[in-house]
Amino acid sequence: MSEKIDDKEAALQKKQCDDCYKYRDNLLKTSPAVIFMSQQIEKLAQTHPKYRQQIEHINKQIFSKLEEKTNDESEKSKSPIFIPSKHLICDICPDNTKLAGFHPDLGVLICANHITKSTSFLLESSITHELVHYYDNMRFKVDLSNLKHHACTEIRASMLSGECSWSYEFFRKFSTFKMFGGFKDCVKRRAALSVSYNPICESKEMAEKAVDEVWNSCFGDTRPFDDVYFG
Ligand SMILES: [Zn+2]
Repeated sequence: MSEKIDDKEAALQKKQCDDCYKYRDNLLKTSPAVIFMSQQIEKLAQTHPKYRQQIEHINKQIFSKLEEKTNDESEKSKSPIFIPSKHLICDICPDNTKLAGFHPDLGVLICANHITKSTSFLLESSITHELVHYYDNMRFKVDLSNLKHHACTEIRASMLSGECSWSYEFFRKFSTFKMFGGFKDCVKRRAALSVSYNPICESKEMAEKAVDEVWNSCFGDTRPFDDVYFG
């Protein structure tokens, strides 16, 4: 009996992962934000060996065989380093707090078991959010044991991913959302919520304080985008 349930569960998880990869592949082809962030990460990696090494470190953890494929150094420097189809992985997530996550050693994980018909449209902003973390970790070496570092990357990810556009807020039923003021409030609220999940964060107030302390410098930093679309 239990074996049957396990088979059923395994089949369900396989279907969830297959669907997740379909959503992901579609976004890699059609989403301007996901494509742009992926290109910017690749551009960083091509610009400086220290950035390149960070991605190669992730590569080693997740697909060591690919590393071995090219031994010719001149060939290596020409080939893409950040390969979105390899660095954005679909898998089953144990907790249900989010649709995707970033780990400095493993890259971006998309939670296949949390994608439903009603949440799939949030996937574009979720992946863009994690790619901003990816970019920040390369560029600024984010230290997650420092809440100010964590707050800064969360402010930027919420601001740049589009997750605070009015349509997403409407979906979250914040019906009093007002343009611009509402955008800032949303970025602040979501950044503080993410910081509050950091194991070293002791309270909601501590998370809000960290966000307030870095707000001016991080909310003003839209790199690698020129500007933010507030719609
Ligand atoms: Zn985040």
